[in-house]
Amino acid sequence: MRPLAVRVASAMFALCGVAPCAPASGAAAPLVAVDIGHTEAAPGAMSARGRSELSFNRELAAHLVEALRARGLRTLLINADGRIASLQERPRAAAGAGADFLVSIHHDSVGEHELRAWHWAGRRQFYSDRWAGHSLFVSRANLDTARSVLCARAMGARLQRGGFAPTHKNGQRREYADHAHAVHYYDELAVLRHARMPAVLFEGGVIRHRAEELRLADPLHQARMADELATAIAACLHAGKPADDEATADARGERIPPVLPAED
Ligand SMILES: [Zn+2]
Repeated sequence: MRPLAVRVASAMFALCGVAPCAPASGAAAPLVAVDIGHTEAAPGAMSARGRSELSFNRELAAHLVEALRARGLRTLLINADGRIASLQERPRAAAGAGADFLVSIHHDSVGEHELRAWHWAGRRQFYSDRWAGHSLFVSRANLDTARSVLCARAMGARLQRGGFAPTHKNGQRREYADHAHAVHYYDELAVLRHARMPAVLFEGGVIRHRAEELRLADPLHQARMADELATAIAACLHAGKPADDEATADARGERIPPVLPAED
């Protein structure tokens, strides 16, 4: 027998016939735009073992899309092919699709003066084991700074609850919006300030750190991190909104009886 949740969902979708089909409440689920930072032409930072930041961003973004969908949210992946034309194109694509939230996925590096040389797989590479951990950025030039900060705080809180430690490396140069959750203001970031919806830039960790690079490349670690982020984003986007309005609840009670498990 199919689980109850699946049968309830099937009953809901059966009511509206052809796609696209909104949930029975009449309100579409929030749409989250997940932006893969950097491009094939400019792949961002380099890891301690010589992997590009873009490749880390791609993997975490894919896990995040999956985790958001598992929570019933709609998603839009931006820059899937790594060939997006400009920074402004990212929030523009999100706005064009009607996204309610934009999260840009990045991985962090360190200043050149902190790098040390080592050899990995027969090649000379550069690392720094000084800093490790995630951090978050919001812009006060964004149209909805308040919800951007709320979502970033929730993301930071969930990550710490899940055992992920933040870095305060970026506190040296970027003012804090929330110290406890490593949320910083970075007002001039184009992807955030041009966004017409709340937006957060997430740095998953420091890929120049030799041990953290290995963790960040681990699919299980990526999935766990994505799971905490998706929990926070879902909660943040529903914050302040009633679970169901009264009229919808009444109508559902009369017209759409719940599908209960068969007695067997
Ligand atoms: Zn980056």
